[in-house]
Amino acid sequence: MDTALAAERRPAEAIPTADDLIARVRSYHPGADGDLIRRAYEFAREKHSRQTRHSGEPYYGHVVAVAMMLADLHLDVSTVCAGLLHDTVEDTEATLEELAELFGEDIARLVDGETKLSQMELSSKRTKQAENFQKLVVAITEDVRVLLVKLCDRLHNMRTLHHIPRQDKRERIARETLEIYAPLARRIGVNRLCTELEDLSFRNLNPNAFESITRRLAAIRETRSVAVATVSAALSAKLEEAGIDARVFGREKRPYSIWRKLERKGVSFDEIADIYAFRVIVTSPDDCYRTLGVIHQTWRCVPERFHDYISTPKPNNYRSLHTTIIGPSNIRLELQIRTEEMEAVAETGVAAHWRYKSGRYGYDAKAAQAAGGDPLERLRPFVEILEQGGDPDEFLEHAKLEMFADQVYCFTPKGELIALPGGATPLDFAFAVHTELGAATVGAKINGRERPLRTRLKNGDVVEIIKGGARQPPAGWEELVVTGRAKAAIRKLIRASEHEEFVRLGRVIAEHAFLREGKPFRETALKNAYERLDVKTPEALYEALGRGRVSSSELLDAVFPGQRESRAETTADRELIQDEKGELYVHGSGLTPGVSLHFADCCSPIPGDRIVGIMRRGRGVEVHVIDCEKLAVWEEEEGDAANDRWIDLKWTPEAQSNAVSIGRIVATVRNEPGALAEIAGAVGEARGNITHIKTNLRSRDFFDMVFDVEVFDVRHLSNIVAALKTCDRVVTAERARSE
Ligand code: MN
Repeated sequence: MDTALAAERRPAEAIPTADDLIARVRSYHPGADGDLIRRAYEFAREKHSRQTRHSGEPYYGHVVAVAMMLADLHLDVSTVCAGLLHDTVEDTEATLEELAELFGEDIARLVDGETKLSQMELSSKRTKQAENFQKLVVAITEDVRVLLVKLCDRLHNMRTLHHIPRQDKRERIARETLEIYAPLARRIGVNRLCTELEDLSFRNLNPNAFESITRRLAAIRETRSVAVATVSAALSAKLEEAGIDARVFGREKRPYSIWRKLERKGVSFDEIADIYAFRVIVTSPDDCYRTLGVIHQTWRCVPERFHDYISTPKPNNYRSLHTTIIGPSNIRLELQIRTEEMEAVAETGVAAHWRYKSGRYGYDAKAAQAAGGDPLERLRPFVEILEQGGDPDEFLEHAKLEMFADQVYCFTPKGELIALPGGATPLDFAFAVHTELGAATVGAKINGRERPLRTRLKNGDVVEIIKGGARQPPAGWEELVVTGRAKAAIRKLIRASEHEEFVRLGRVIAEHAFLREGKPFRETALKNAYERLDVKTPEALYEALGRGRVSSSELLDAVFPGQRESRAETTADRELIQDEKGELYVHGSGLTPGVSLHFADCCSPIPGDRIVGIMRRGRGVEVHVIDCEKLAVWEEEEGDAANDRWIDLKWTPEAQSNAVSIGRIVATVRNEPGALAEIAGAVGEARGNITHIKTNLRSRDFFDMVFDVEVFDVRHLSNIVAALKTCDRVVTAERARSE
């Protein structure tokens, strides 16, 4: 029997009364309007009187539970009342006008926000979900209290999720909680809600893992309780001796955070859970450092495990000192040292800043700023992603990226802190500072030295962005960044340049077509074709040509109706277009994926190769090496139609000289120790850089490898292949031509 679930299925607790709720609010806000709370309470009970929850409980128990949670976060009366009323408009005949009249505009607006959000949740389709998330972000950035009510609502629903009979529905809700609500809670620092949301989602999505971790944690708790008490006493005694007023307590590890570490770091359960964790709460930041001093002087600290989040807070305002020591009896101890205020912010984040200010109880942005930065600022990246446009799915994808990564902290040359997800590059950094800076980036200096844009930033790096004039994002930029903000901004730049590029390409194609027909090219002549090709401007026509929606024969048929010969001569087209006008720009790697030119995967052309382009309907030009096998297959499949889909291409001189491209090599290698090292050495000596390796085990003695190397041009690639051939353990090596 699942013990954790059984514990939850205890008899329903009595629903708190209006007096209970008022007393809870008055414990932190003595002047709270009890009458208003009571009226909201009675109104909700009355309106929901005919409804019950899946658990069989009266429905109003849910809204009261939500209001109690909001009171536990010490929020204002309006928010608590909004908690009571949050489902009335959605689920009963109550109207917004009625609420505004009875309880005031502020409360009505909050309930309106909740109603809109819950209406969005009714749909389970992916795109719908994505749209909802966009609206959620808009709503919460207007008033973060909407999110706090939503999070408490979601938490209570998660606590009672097991009453929902359908498993697929439970899973959908749990997944949405884990992917959207828990990260948002973390973002605004309400960790207390976040960890419980995560654990509850985890329990529902992976009950076996949850149960096994919970059970092992319980076992550890039992066997170690004496040791924990001893350590705790030893710590307290040491601090008392030093005259430091401190509260010391053991800290429970959360099942979901253990699971994540197991998954991510591939370490054993014991390595993670077997560490004692303590929290030391003191009265001032000064005392934090004094405490640290006392502890480090008494016990040995584990290097690399010390973090000072007081001088450099985490982006969600988290402040604390972290250290790991070899404590009494040689036990490893993890310690978090912080003040009461830091503790409050760490537990409840944005909610820690509701207080009395000039006679009013409300959000104190100044106090928040003083405690390490206004948490509401942490929602800004989502708004920025939103402002970059794109469809809802794209937004959701980018926002999730934004939410899910560990952080590194870097600095501008002026010392401004920029927090980025782990794995972020200078390009992410540039876009985090400003979209325009990102777009203008051509290089970066890290700690004073020029480094490639693909460099992964490390904590404490000082990053200086080198600006240039380029407006169009170069190839592969999307792959270089990890933040949602940067991805969204790059996608937007690509969308803009894509259009231009297709238009430019289309014009070249049109000129070709006229040339082949032996007619002088005049833009005015195109007018004849507008109606037939369903376009209204030359630009639209060029774009259609560029994107391959219209072929050059179709263009000619439309421009010169009835005048064209049967196309007997077209077999010579490929020769015919070998003229100087056919020089399409192909920057070495300077092409943007998803834009009008694509390098074919099968032969991965690099500068120096003889290349040719083929028009793919709706996708623009695909660039192949001229003797690529795929090309022959394509020609066969397309038959006659292939003839006017060839595009002659040449490399620009600069692509020939300095671009770095990716070349693909296939090799058969003896299955012996050291084989990989030998290959890597040979490639390195030939000044190549391996970016990707795939090995296919073929037999006990040999395996096939495919690897991608960065090269300058064809000659460079040939040199590397030649170098490989001289390796003892390499049987064959050659450039990949087709998959
Ligand atoms: Mn609700």
